[in-house]
Amino acid sequence: MSTLPIRNIYCIGRNYAAHARELGNDPSAKPLIFMKPLSAVISDGGTIVIPHDSGSCHHEIELALQLGEDARFVHVDDAPACISAYAVALDMTLRDLQNDLKKKGWPWDIAKAFESSLPLGSFVPASEISKPSELDLNLKLNGRVVQEGCTNQMILSPYHCVSYVSQYFQLRAGDVIITGTPAGVGPVHPGDKLEASISGLGTLTVGVAAEAAPALDSRP
Ligand code: MG
Repeated sequence: MSTLPIRNIYCIGRNYAAHARELGNDPSAKPLIFMKPLSAVISDGGTIVIPHDSGSCHHEIELALQLGEDARFVHVDDAPACISAYAVALDMTLRDLQNDLKKKGWPWDIAKAFESSLPLGSFVPASEISKPSELDLNLKLNGRVVQEGCTNQMILSPYHCVSYVSQYFQLRAGDVIITGTPAGVGPVHPGDKLEASISGLGTLTVGVAAEAAPALDSRP
């Protein structure tokens, strides 16, 4: 999947104004940062398994980038040299749960970090992507286009994303940043097929299934 083993996975939220607005958020606010665990990653051809009894699960197509070197307090002009590769990603989100968590002011982990919540395509060397801030994103759900956008609509460009995250975290070679989604997010259901494409990065295809119900629901 990658030339470097993946280390930490950082995610940028609300990085496209139209998407921030469609979820009722202020597009002038700074984009936010959250994380996903390594267990969230699935590869091309894999299956998103929606956790049992978790409400709606939304698709979010995103550009992923991987760090080729350690980075801290990176100036945006120095960010290109830190990026080793790009890929197509899907930030799968349990939207109903996330909305409940937002209301409570709780962290988003159970809505964002479940196993298979990060389908990730093959990484393409950064040397093959001359303008990462001019890449078209296209997501098809069962053959119908549901999300379209361009990385030139980002509030923080891919290079600015590296600089921004590096203000808070010591980035390491292998770390991945997913850079936010354009407008058009919506629900997926068991049996669906998602085809996510970004210019120059190919197509990531995944299926959707539901987790089997537990024999006895042990949750509080
Ligand atoms: Mg996202």
